[in-house]
Amino acid sequence: MSDQVAATPHLDALIIGAGFSGMYQLHCLRDRLGLSARVLEAADGVGGTWYWNRYPGARCDSESHSYSYYFSDELLEEWEWSERYPGQAEIMRYLNHVADKFDLKRDIQLGTRVSAARYDEAANLWHVETESGAGYSATYLITAVGCLSSANVPDIPGLDSFAGQWVHTGQWPHEGVDFTRKRVGQVGTGSTGIQAAPVIAETAGHLTVFQRTANYSVPARNAPLTEEFKRWCHEEHDEIRAVLQDTPNGHPFRIADRKVFDVSASERQEIYEKAWEKGGLQFRASFQDLLADKAANDTAAEFLKGKIREVIKDPETAAMLADIDHPYAAKRPPIDTGYFEAFNRDNVSLVDVRKNPIERITPKGIVTADGVEHELDVIVFATGFDAMTGALLKLGVTGRDGQSLADAWYAGPVTYLGLQSAGFPNMFTITGPGSPSVLCNMPVPIEQHVEWITDCIAHMRANGIARIEPEAEAADRWVAHVNEAANATLLPLAKHSWYLGANVPGKPRVFMPYAGGMKRYRDICDDIAAKGYEGFVLDGAAGDATAGDFAAADSADSPGI
Ligand code: NAP
Repeated sequence: MSDQVAATPHLDALIIGAGFSGMYQLHCLRDRLGLSARVLEAADGVGGTWYWNRYPGARCDSESHSYSYYFSDELLEEWEWSERYPGQAEIMRYLNHVADKFDLKRDIQLGTRVSAARYDEAANLWHVETESGAGYSATYLITAVGCLSSANVPDIPGLDSFAGQWVHTGQWPHEGVDFTRKRVGQVGTGSTGIQAAPVIAETAGHLTVFQRTANYSVPARNAPLTEEFKRWCHEEHDEIRAVLQDTPNGHPFRIADRKVFDVSASERQEIYEKAWEKGGLQFRASFQDLLADKAANDTAAEFLKGKIREVIKDPETAAMLADIDHPYAAKRPPIDTGYFEAFNRDNVSLVDVRKNPIERITPKGIVTADGVEHELDVIVFATGFDAMTGALLKLGVTGRDGQSLADAWYAGPVTYLGLQSAGFPNMFTITGPGSPSVLCNMPVPIEQHVEWITDCIAHMRANGIARIEPEAEAADRWVAHVNEAANATLLPLAKHSWYLGANVPGKPRVFMPYAGGMKRYRDICDDIAAKGYEGFVLDGAAGDATAGDFAAADSADSPGI
């Protein structure tokens, strides 16, 4: 355990996780409300997802000036990003800078993995245990464990027998992996695999990419930031903040008002070409109906598939890469730096594991269903995460009447606003399932959740409220609304998406993030708080109002765009 903090038997608030969420939550509860608060963090450093995801090419897809905290003008004024998209190392420098600036590290206990959290109804306390056997109690338990932090290593027979080295991108060794002249197999072509492959290919002897679901990608067009842009960020951060908080997905760009079929085919082509040249996630914002209307989406999909065919020299490889089975952006759309171009290298090849699934791993490599043994020295699993619920369920949470969170969520997560679950009083989740979270530029929903939770706790303390939890009916209505919001978009059409839990065998297929848009979500949360925490039970008494319906999702507001 590093950065030791003297054990405290009781705290007002215990926060699990020291990424973007946990650090800001600590600052709010400790420095704004004056509570005793501590963060328990499994890693040996702050940074959350960026601490673990050190794979080659790891870089955020959000533009750096938006991938920042906006709560402190001073912080905004003093920090300067160097590139259009922040790389993993720069994000780590940023988060450490924040931790130092706000003197957070003295209350962050590193190297401490939580193994159980149990609600004690009589004492109205959470008892938390760690793997090292330490125990804590706290009035409020805030889970800040991230949506994409529980690595999904596929259960492939024979993995243990592999004579080479295997790694998961989400648990990348700090000392790095030397690919020089090695035969490398990369499984997975999501955002991570698409970032990693071209970088691995630069040093590997040979890289074989095992693709199950072909994916779209738009060039990131990363570049150093100009002095003029940096100055603009400093001068206009109020305006940038306003855009981030006003857009459905928390990105620093607005979604075009026009619809795909409002313009002629040639105008559309020109719009897509310009967006392609500009690069990045902004491509999704070219039209407002891309994620609402399949025919509209098809035009973007065809454009992007055409780009793949243009780039790839070998027709068979081009056909495999462009054989995409889902609407554009129905899975989280990757952006890349030279992904498709990498397949034109002599040392890169592609294997279609939809057609020939991986059957087993031998000491020598990966065997696919056609009987071919792909001999490898290193296997890189870019196979994603048990997203949104995995890390939460691993905490071993038990609520009122001994009910575990795993049991409460056996058919999929049931939350009210993604913030709380019935039966788990005073436990809050930052960017939990049922909140916009992963459909947005993450710092925006994180700041909104942290501030809502802070205000809620302040309200409780000011009004002598000992306990808060949702009414079961309010949570059920919220889950119905989350489904309704997703079904108003094309998002559920991607059958192999982690949004649905489909990437983890046996996981319930439930669309987990809230697709109604960040702006609408923020308004709903504010409205609920303003109405005396409508739909929550406060201190054993029912809230004075019952949660109404949350209004049908407006597809134009879809944050997937
Ligand atoms: P992912 O999107 O879940 O992709 C995992 C890949 O592994 C998919 O291609 C998947 O195929 C494949 N796969 C999984 N199990 C497999 C198996 N048993 N056999 C063959 N293939 C298998 O994971 P990710 O790429 O790590 O990205 C997860 C999320 O993290 C992203 O969507 C994004 O939100 C975030 N992320 C962000 C950034 C960034 O901002 N720069 C970078 C990386 C990741 P199927 O599609 O068929 O399941």
